[in-house]
Amino acid sequence: MRWLAVLLLIARPISAAEPADVIFSNGSVYTVNERQPHAEAVAVRGDRIAFVGSNADAQKFRDNHTRVIDLHGGTVVPGLTDSHCHIFGIGEREMTMNLEGANSFEAFLAKVQERVAKTERGQWITGRGWIETFWKPPQFPTRADLDKIAPANPVYLTRADGHASVVNSAALKIAGIARATPNPFGGEILKDDSGEPMGMLLDNAQDIVESKIPKPAEAEREKALSLGVQREIALGWCEIQNAGSELSDVQLLRRANEAGQVKLRIYNAAYGPGAAAQKLLEEGPTLNAYRNHFTQRTIKVVFDGALGSRGAALLAPYSDRPDTSGFLTQKEAELLPLFQEALRRGIQVETHAIGDRANRIILDLYERAFQTVPPNERKIREPRWRVEHAQILSGQDIPRFARLGVIVSMQPSHAISDLFFAPARLGIDRLAGAYAWNSFLKTGAVVCGGSDAPVERGEPMIEFYAAISRKSTKGESREGWHSEQAVTREQALRMFTVNAAYAAFEEIDKGAIEPGKLADFTVLSADIMKIPEPEILNTRCVMTVIGGETVFEDRQ
Ligand SMILES: [Zn+2]
Ligand SMILES: [Zn+2]
Repeated sequence: MRWLAVLLLIARPISAAEPADVIFSNGSVYTVNERQPHAEAVAVRGDRIAFVGSNADAQKFRDNHTRVIDLHGGTVVPGLTDSHCHIFGIGEREMTMNLEGANSFEAFLAKVQERVAKTERGQWITGRGWIETFWKPPQFPTRADLDKIAPANPVYLTRADGHASVVNSAALKIAGIARATPNPFGGEILKDDSGEPMGMLLDNAQDIVESKIPKPAEAEREKALSLGVQREIALGWCEIQNAGSELSDVQLLRRANEAGQVKLRIYNAAYGPGAAAQKLLEEGPTLNAYRNHFTQRTIKVVFDGALGSRGAALLAPYSDRPDTSGFLTQKEAELLPLFQEALRRGIQVETHAIGDRANRIILDLYERAFQTVPPNERKIREPRWRVEHAQILSGQDIPRFARLGVIVSMQPSHAISDLFFAPARLGIDRLAGAYAWNSFLKTGAVVCGGSDAPVERGEPMIEFYAAISRKSTKGESREGWHSEQAVTREQALRMFTVNAAYAAFEEIDKGAIEPGKLADFTVLSADIMKIPEPEILNTRCVMTVIGGETVFEDRQ
């Protein structure tokens, strides 16, 4: 293949080159451009790529004003994009009690207790990130557990997936939740055999308590955004696709961009149905604002719960709790008119769907919207709607994505986290359609990759490793993990570059290292396309370049 690239380079007129502002040389550049897969140097003019090729040819773009940055053989990939994460949540994780590391029930309690000791009586204690997967036994905590260590403070602690929270008795009391309180639509108040609330609230039931917690001040939200952005660019992300925001956060994002404070490119979705989606429908999309740093053209719908907390809507009951098959969190009849309006106005829709029932019904709804609003009545003929997670699928529904042109937005780390408990929830048979990356690719569907941080760590190397190995970060694989669903390194790289760009209508500007595109790239400490799998987890981002500007550099 390399001779072909060389021939193409020779054919290109590069002699009378206009000088570049910056030349990045001595790199091992994986371009994700099929016509020129590998290169050594990239020349940048303004915020765009002017040249990609050999070190020698790059010299033709050099004059007295050109800065030359020696990459010392570093591996360069197109600017990595996290197709699904929550930027404010990522920042908040750094600010509030982070329960992620609690690998035992005792460690979880100890962390909470530590916080209780520092908190005034009566003040709320909130935190996020606990997950019972490796606790012995792997059971949800209860309000009684929390009452013992926090009798005088209301406590609200969200499970890692964000779809369930455990609260203590003080919090239940403030929210008025008692034996007689019915489950809200799209949520569940877990109760014991005698009918007493146990303290676990699933999906929409969380809102009953959450609405009583004082809202964070505006300054705290700003700080969360700023911390989130700092963290993302240090990890090598050049763009994140923010999977949902309320109106106040949309305004905050715009203000922060106006003030030039956001170095990261953000592709933002507005939550719907609701005020944020309504405003987007009325005002229309914002495209490539603030020098291509902010686009908003998407409505995010959350259609069911999550697998771990048994809120994901399944076609058949949970294997480890046969009295439930989960629930939908939105009403179909309310979504259809929203979807039709979105098509007419050229707004993209992305929907969180985890269970096989949620996935089937959302595809039905998309299909009905496409049929009732034909291409000539749409503002954008090819809507590129997405399903977020597409985690558990009935075999017959997998080919429907490609057929309908629906993009599959998947998070490789979810597989290697969830597969520890998925066999218990689903039984072995249903795992055939779970986290089925390769099955989707084989049908011709576009699969873009994300992390869903702060649900997961949100590190590109963990995602890349998970996608190609389908093993835990300790290298484990177990019965029912379906290792054949692992993808190749080339496919994994595409998921986080060109496919992510396509999923955002951005493939003209982003997703590959190619003349004319925005100069976004990530420089890594090792060659992730060649090194043994476990070494990927030790690979660091050494430089993040966005629009030709080095926004992060690891000076180790
Ligand atoms: Zn989700
Ligand atoms: Zn999410």
